[in-house]
Amino acid sequence: MKIGILKENQPEQRVALLPESVKALIKLKVEVLLEKGAGNLAYTFDPEYIDAGAIIVERNNVLSDSDILVFINPLGAEEIQKINSSKILMGAMNPFGNIEVVKELVAKNITSFSLELVPRTSRAQSMDILSSMATVAGYRAVLDAALHLPRFFPMFMSAAGTIKPAKVLILGAGVAGLQAIAVARKLGAVVEVFDVRSAVKEEVKSLGGKFIEVEGAVEDAAAGGYAVEQTDEFKQKQADLIDQHAQTSHVVICTAQIPGRKAPLLLKKETVKAMKSGSVIIDLAASSGGNCELTINGEIAKVEGVTIIGKSDYPSDMPYDASAMYAKNMFNFLKLIINDTGELDLNFDDEIVKGTCLTHKGEVINERVKAVL
Ligand code: NAD
Repeated sequence: MKIGILKENQPEQRVALLPESVKALIKLKVEVLLEKGAGNLAYTFDPEYIDAGAIIVERNNVLSDSDILVFINPLGAEEIQKINSSKILMGAMNPFGNIEVVKELVAKNITSFSLELVPRTSRAQSMDILSSMATVAGYRAVLDAALHLPRFFPMFMSAAGTIKPAKVLILGAGVAGLQAIAVARKLGAVVEVFDVRSAVKEEVKSLGGKFIEVEGAVEDAAAGGYAVEQTDEFKQKQADLIDQHAQTSHVVICTAQIPGRKAPLLLKKETVKAMKSGSVIIDLAASSGGNCELTINGEIAKVEGVTIIGKSDYPSDMPYDASAMYAKNMFNFLKLIINDTGELDLNFDDEIVKGTCLTHKGEVINERVKAVL
């Protein structure tokens, strides 16, 4: 069986598999094809892949000769049209934001796996690209905020006087939010945190953040640990509290999301306008609508002295380690579907294989995507 690594379209800088994972795949008796130069922007070059055992070819040959095509961002509808339906596609297909491509895959009878759909269970943790990429995003978001802020993060006592520490407000304490708390604390900031899931309270505290509780949050065990839509009364209470805390903060990091839905609106424009001049907002939820009303996805906006950075693609800015984490997750999933002789072995009785499968035999398989369709 042949696995083909495709080169991403710019500005994406990551690559789906690095040479270490190629070597491990070859040990599983699989051949690996690499589109020429696919790792260049992740600072990993063709000779390193050749040393690991990959064969370097042009894109057309990867597309025609591979049994499994691996990538990060989904292929466009035009390219999917040209692909033979015996191929298996595997990447971050962004199914909730890309319903047209899902329909295209169904119509063409293509089997596809979307690694964002890997179940959030302990057994599947080593395949969880959402956690890996959120770790990178939370880390980079804090560093970016520190660079844009016209103040220090830590407290300084010097001959030139005492400088107070910056105050950072984090909205959402999932994987990205927890990472952001840890980095902001390491840089010496005072950190406050909002989340609708009370389960994160202890984690926030153990990282040195202060958890601000809003009473009356709706939590649903059936949502698999994810946040669910809140009542209007809760939203109003939360908005008032966020408004108060944002006005005394220097940085707000927005990470709150609800899978498959528009991100909750948590920072109203009136709140932003009342914030201290020079403050910085980083909105990691920008691509799903943003937590801040004034966010423009992919842009840096300035409103009454407040810098608002709408950025959901931090992992691409740290392409080496982001690719390394993605590649490890991808390899661990591939191991599940390759048998001892290096051939494909799809076991749909395995909840990880079934849960991660987006389309198969002309049907949408993942239940959450099916529900949205
Ligand atoms: P996410 O990206 O879906 O959301 C980020 C955070 O925003 C979440 O903590 C969510 O509760 C919060 N949020 C949503 N709406 C909000 C609102 N209105 N106000 C404030 N906060 C709001 O989250 P994620 O990082 O993908 O993690 C989601 C869940 O998956 C968590 O329960 C996490 O512990 C769990 N998880 C499990 C595993 C595993 O077991 N393999 C791995 C990673 C994450």
